[in-house]
Amino acid sequence: MRADAVVVAAGVSRRMAGVDKLMAPIGDRPLLAWTLEALAAAPEVERIVLVVASDAIGAIRAAPWLPAKVDAVVAGGERRQDSVAAGLAWLDASAPASIDGGAGSRAGRDERVVLVHDGGRPAVTPALVSAIARAAAEHGAAIPVVPIVETVKRLEGGWIAATLDRSELRAAQTPQGVRAGLLREALARHPADGPEAWTDEAALLEACRIPVHAVEGEPTNLKVTTPDDLGRAELALLGRRPTRIGYGDDSHPFGPGGPLALGGISIAGAPRLHGHSDGDVALHAVADALLGAGGLGDLGRAFPAGPATPRGIASRELVADSVRRLAAVGLRPVQLDLTIVAARPRLGDSLDAMRTAIAELVGLPTDRINVKASTGNLAGAEGAGRGISARAVALVEPIG
Ligand code: MG
Repeated sequence: MRADAVVVAAGVSRRMAGVDKLMAPIGDRPLLAWTLEALAAAPEVERIVLVVASDAIGAIRAAPWLPAKVDAVVAGGERRQDSVAAGLAWLDASAPASIDGGAGSRAGRDERVVLVHDGGRPAVTPALVSAIARAAAEHGAAIPVVPIVETVKRLEGGWIAATLDRSELRAAQTPQGVRAGLLREALARHPADGPEAWTDEAALLEACRIPVHAVEGEPTNLKVTTPDDLGRAELALLGRRPTRIGYGDDSHPFGPGGPLALGGISIAGAPRLHGHSDGDVALHAVADALLGAGGLGDLGRAFPAGPATPRGIASRELVADSVRRLAAVGLRPVQLDLTIVAARPRLGDSLDAMRTAIAELVGLPTDRINVKASTGNLAGAEGAGRGISARAVALVEPIG
């Protein structure tokens, strides 16, 4: 038997804080590449149509990671069903190289299985793709389902109205497979541009009373919708949580007034560092390293010295915000190493307090934070006591 696959990847990643989840790197290639490879590795799949946002078509057609089985990259629509319809239209217009049941015959076309798969499910196995293709060929339509582990409640106005019998409930995954003839029949009754919104293909088939066979899905076949899911997908595909490092470096001259803000604490009797913020050069290096590890640019770009960043802003806020920006792309700090270079004041007695303050700021135990100080060995502005500099290295990992 032969199957065609429509991969829907046109949705905007609304829950991913503006990051295109399908292009998020997992190992050495984007998430979408993993999805396509898994489908292409199923021997039943002959052609893949990839449906993407219209402004992404050019870049994706030129992508080096596109498997050979991807025959077309076409523009999708606002809703999932619009994108599925766009993929089907391409398949209908393009005669496959070989058709079971006779070259180009209507019967042959109708018997062919169409698999619809979410672009954001990269950890599907080729074995599940094959199982769905074969089950759809045999039964007309088939989808993968998994048991629901949590107890499921029905709500009414914010209150629990009932507990549902979860032994009868399943969560639906993709790929969802259906013989092309049945799908065409369903779409003739409920055109894709009609008022109904289907959250999956099975819902459309159910509305047409077309029986859908349930196949055991895979717990690892998760749909990546939130930043945390990216970490889970990495774990499923790579078997590990890849870490990333960042480096931060900053220096500030001493200015008028005091006390000195350094490493998240206040040191009385020492002059303050000059700067748009409170001048905490150590926290600037930390924030810079965190942003660097997340591929989020640098502190100057994240918090430009202007009206958007209040004068005298506590650098603790810059670090806290950097941690939030990391979380928005699915990452969290793992470890920090910080070196402060200052001839004055003497910092030896303050390092433990800095360590505690920074640990609290980034949400890590103190043993993951290291703070060192050097006098600058009489070299440079720091050694001469005209300012303080700091360098930090940050290790981050996927959340989830
Ligand atoms: Mg600075």
